[in-house]
Amino acid sequence: MEEKKRTVTKVQSSRKAASEAAEEVKATGKKVEGMTKAEEKSKATTLRIVSAILWLVAIACEVLAILVVFRALRLPGLEKARIWWILGFIVVDFICCVIAGLLWKKASHLDPFSGKNKFLFFILSQLGAIMAAVCLLPLIIIVLTRKEDKLDKKTKTIVTVVACILLAIACLLGIDFHPLTAEQKADAAQQLSSFEKVYWTRYGHKYHLYEKCQAIRNSTDISYSEGEEIDGEYVPAVRVAMDNGCTGLCAFCARDAEKEGKDLKGIVLEDGTIAGADETANDLTVAPEE
Ligand SMILES: [Zn+2]
Repeated sequence: MEEKKRTVTKVQSSRKAASEAAEEVKATGKKVEGMTKAEEKSKATTLRIVSAILWLVAIACEVLAILVVFRALRLPGLEKARIWWILGFIVVDFICCVIAGLLWKKASHLDPFSGKNKFLFFILSQLGAIMAAVCLLPLIIIVLTRKEDKLDKKTKTIVTVVACILLAIACLLGIDFHPLTAEQKADAAQQLSSFEKVYWTRYGHKYHLYEKCQAIRNSTDISYSEGEEIDGEYVPAVRVAMDNGCTGLCAFCARDAEKEGKDLKGIVLEDGTIAGADETANDLTVAPEE
């Protein structure tokens, strides 16, 4: 079998002394930071506030674009360049939506929402996509239903096509294809101290116990983390992986670990199920995350 060149990157806490961290970077490549629970929560809150502000800006741009459509806004050169004003507002609207959606998703993985109420969880975890629709769809509907005296046909077509394309992109980027519930994260947090070291790939959504796992064998960009103590709180390796977008344990690794006799009971697997859940339901009492 041919050996491919790969980088294996250690991901560790931000609290290590800068010099020590710099040295580790030199030795192993780039790194991602781990956080305590309190840090995760406060970072998630910040990200959510920024998202909310960006969505407000996006809605403001949408309103401005609609006002231009209705000729209710006086802007320099508006009559000659109406289409450019409308497109300009739509593009800013779109950019704000995309950034807000991505930040919102990041926050949802740092500090996940409870999955107990499935409907609420769906709304909150997919808010990026929903807000993209709120920030662009009304404008599209208004442009499409306007009479020709408000917008000429060419302007109408261009604005509609551009807005629809941007809406599709913003929605896709806003969807969380791997939503994580607070319960899953708590489940994992309870059990994951047993894994001292885990690996994941940049765009992967599962973490691995073995660097040689067949799912990541051909990946060239591997990150890893090791459990460590930060301010008296133990930050398990898997939590760092989860902060970086992983939602469950790789099925191949789970199988190999079981062969080795490791106890995986309570671990969230890559398909969202919990290992050993059918065997002993009593052992799965989950401690709520503080
Ligand atoms: Zn694996």
